[in-house]
Parts: sequence; structure tokens; C-alpha cells
Amino acid sequence: MPTEPFQIAGSIEDALSAMATGARPVAGGTDLVVGARQGKSPLPSNLVAVDRIVELSTIEQNAEGVIVGAGVTHATLMTDPLITSGYTALADAAALVGSPATRNVGTLGGNVMNGSPAMDTGAPLIVLGAMIDLRSQGGSRRVAPSKLWTGPGSTSASDDELCVAVALPKRSERSGSAYVRLEYRRAMEIAVVGAAASVELNDEGVIEQVAIALTAVAPTIVALEGLTDLVGRRVDEDVLAAVAAIASSQAQPISDLRAGADYRAHTVGVMARRAVDAAARRAAGETIEVPVNRAEGVGRTDRP
Ligand SMILES: Cc1cc2nc3c(=O)[nH]c(=O)nc-3n(C[C@H](O)[C@H](O)[C@H](O)COP(=O)(O)OP(=O)(O)OC[C@H]3O[C@@H](n4cnc5c(N)ncnc54)[C@H](O)[C@@H]3O)c2cc1C
Repeated sequence: MPTEPFQIAGSIEDALSAMATGARPVAGGTDLVVGARQGKSPLPSNLVAVDRIVELSTIEQNAEGVIVGAGVTHATLMTDPLITSGYTALADAAALVGSPATRNVGTLGGNVMNGSPAMDTGAPLIVLGAMIDLRSQGGSRRVAPSKLWTGPGSTSASDDELCVAVALPKRSERSGSAYVRLEYRRAMEIAVVGAAASVELNDEGVIEQVAIALTAVAPTIVALEGLTDLVGRRVDEDVLAAVAAIASSQAQPISDLRAGADYRAHTVGVMARRAVDAAARRAAGETIEVPVNRAEGVGRTDRP
């Protein structure tokens, strides 16, 4: 049966049926359409717009945590009270995406499914223990981000699978998270490198759990290993130096026009220690405005 080249889905079922006949979903279009205009890859011949699907644009709390619809925009993520209070690294990341225009239409689902190693929401989703909900006419499945992203711009999702939501597990009271990125200018810039951290402290202010992930230093987002030695310690200079060393050693960056590999390996360590420091301070109850980059002056050019 011939398909319309451009369809507008009013429901998830509409979108799934269009995708079953070969249509590609488009949400904000800030990757897909802008990329086509820039000549990165031609616009697919069949598109289904998913930005008007109300079920995709909600943020809901339940007993297990928070479910964020795939169609939620970065502008909403960076201000939603559930996200800024409990999942602050994700709000930090959303607040750094592009410009206000990009954030107003660009979505979490589009960022996740585009699969760029420089995506800002990726490292926060890893440290927050997020899972990605995919649906097709054949059924639903929940996949870990590390299993979804398979390489630069590629995912393990099949062409007929729609990302419907991102599930964020419940957080403990004494936990905090942060995302920090190196950028050369303050808008319309993707991360040169970035790092997200999640820290849980006990009543004595000692680390009970820590997770760190890195942006733009490998073909996919990197979840750091070997952090168990940090558990049971206070977040002091020694711990932050160890974090920087672990991050730099596990990064596998490339050199390109924007940065050399050695510079990326070094600066991602700096971003990781800043992310852990901010996450631990948030866990201890300190308020650091979203995004950390602006609150802490990362990238300020007027510093002495
Ligand atoms: C000027 C500019 C600046 C930018 N700056 C940043 C930045 O700082 N940080 C950053 O991370 N990104 C940045 N981006 C990239 C982009 O804005 C984000 O990745 C955004 O979140 C993409 O969302 P979207 O809804 O526009 O995706 P779309 O362009 O609509 O889609 C992107 C991809 O995901 C697929 N897709 C979309 N929704 C779904 C779904 N629900 N299920 C399955 N597949 C889906 C599409 O088919 C397509 O392959 C920038 C883009 C521009 C144009």
C-alpha cells in the first residue's frame, strides 16, 4: 500500500502504524531536518511527525521513579521541578543544548535516538540509571542506554521502534547529580568533552554510591569503571584527583578540528572532578543553580 510522504501522528498507535510501513519519526527536527539541510544525510522520503502526540510529552512520578515522555523538550526538562530537584544532571544538560529555539523544539527522545557521542543528555542518563522504553507494533521493550547506543549516530533500535519514554529510577534523599561540559562559547555549541556524576552520601557525608559517565571522548558515551575504591571516602581533594585520573585514563578520544586527543583526555578529567564535586555538594543539600556550567562559571572568559 503506498504511504504518504509526510504524516502527522495524533497518537502513539498512529506513529507505530506509519513506522511499520517505513516512515521515519521526526520530533523537533533539530537533528534530522537541520542535518539534511547541512547535507549530512538526505531527508528520509517518508516521515511521521510525532511532536503532537500528547502521551509523549508528559513527566510523571510513580512508586519506582519518574517517567519522562520522549517528546518532552529540553526547555521543559531544564525547568520541571521533578527533574531539577531529583535528576539535576539531566536538567544541567538540557539547559546547555543549543539555543532557546533549539531547546524549545528539540526533545529528549530525539537526543537519545540520534545517538551522537556528543549528546548532552547521554552521560546524565547513564549515571542516573535511566532505561529507555521502545515500542513497535510487535510489542514493547525496555533497554539500558549502554545497550541502545552502538556507535556514533547508531542505535540497536529497529526502524519500526518508537522511543516512547525514559524511565528514571527513584533517588535517595542524600543523593545529588551534575553535568558539566567544556565549551568554547556559550550557545550553539556542542560539547568538546563533558562529564556527568551521581553521588549518594551517608549521614556522615561519606560516599555510599558514585557513578560517572563521559561525553564526546569515545564512539559512545563512556560509563567509568573502577570507582568502588571511592566508596567510604569523603569527597576531598584526593578523591577529586583520583576521579580526574580515572576519567582521563578511560577516555579514548579522537583528535578533530575542535580539540586534540590529549587535550580532550586531560580536560575530561577536569570536567569529571567538577561534576563529582557539584553532585556531592548537591547531595549534601547545597543549592547550585541549573546549569552548573553557568553557576560555577565554567568557560568564563573574564576570569583572571
Ligand atoms: C543549532 C543546534 C544546536 C544544537 N546543540 C546541541 C547541544 O548543545 N547538545 C546536544 O546534545 N544536541 C544539540 N543539538 C542537536 C539536537 O538539537 C538534539 O539532539 C535534540 O535533542 C534532537 O531532538 P529532536 O526532537 O529535534 O530530534 P529530531 O531531529 O526530530 O530526530 C533526531 C533523530 O531521532 C529520531 N527520533 C526522534 N524522535 C524519536 C522517537 N520518539 N523515537 C524514535 N526515534 C526518534 C529521528 O528519526 C532522528 O533520527 C543541536 C542542534 C542544533 C540544530
